[in-house]
Amino acid sequence: MNITENPQNALFTVFGLLDPTEPPKPRGASQRAFRLDSFYVDEYRGVFSCACACGRSEPLLVASDDFRKINRLNHLYACPVCIQEFKSAKTMKDKLEVWLRQNKREIEADQHLHLPKHTEILFDASSGTTIRTRRAVFQAFFEDELASKQFVMTKCNDEFCINPYHLMICRSPAGKITPEMKHDVVVWSSTLGWSNLKIQHQIQLKYGRSVSKRSISNIKRSWQPSDVMKMS
Ligand SMILES: [Zn+2]
Ligand SMILES: [Zn+2]
Repeated sequence: MNITENPQNALFTVFGLLDPTEPPKPRGASQRAFRLDSFYVDEYRGVFSCACACGRSEPLLVASDDFRKINRLNHLYACPVCIQEFKSAKTMKDKLEVWLRQNKREIEADQHLHLPKHTEILFDASSGTTIRTRRAVFQAFFEDELASKQFVMTKCNDEFCINPYHLMICRSPAGKITPEMKHDVVVWSSTLGWSNLKIQHQIQLKYGRSVSKRSISNIKRSWQPSDVMKMS
């Protein structure tokens, strides 16, 4: 049975209410507003309206008499969609994705976001391989499947930050210059006389990586005539 099917079922799943009374419709202005785990609760005469922060479910209505009897059947109070996701999340990656979806509207761009325990790599049970944490965050948050050529980098300078708003896609990871790339830079500049711009373009084409013109200059500067022989 799908727990989202029926609001009465939801009152059991979410609040542990076995035999809830039919709640009246909220009328007039909210008398009191407060937070209950994932819920924004508004109290009206005779009824509490509980709207999950994820924004994916209709608010749950609980009659005031019942509201006194609620208890946490699950780890937290949240809408049935959130609870179902929570229950089926097994790996750290699943749990992180669930959390991101549930807190999508709560994540703000103006501060860094950290995991309780930082990890660079997550296990992806669906593919049986690993995935970089930031890549998983970006894909889950923006609901965008990235191509293998697309890499996720941070825009902020906090090395532990995973705030999706502080991430960006780039075509290739910066940096890591391999011995083969160095070899090509030396050959292309010394033998073929190519400009740094042309070398940069060619590195991008051949290796799918972006290397700064400064790095290319540095490779050329540190070049010794015997290097080409050694690397060939
Ligand atoms: Zn929810
Ligand atoms: Zn940040």
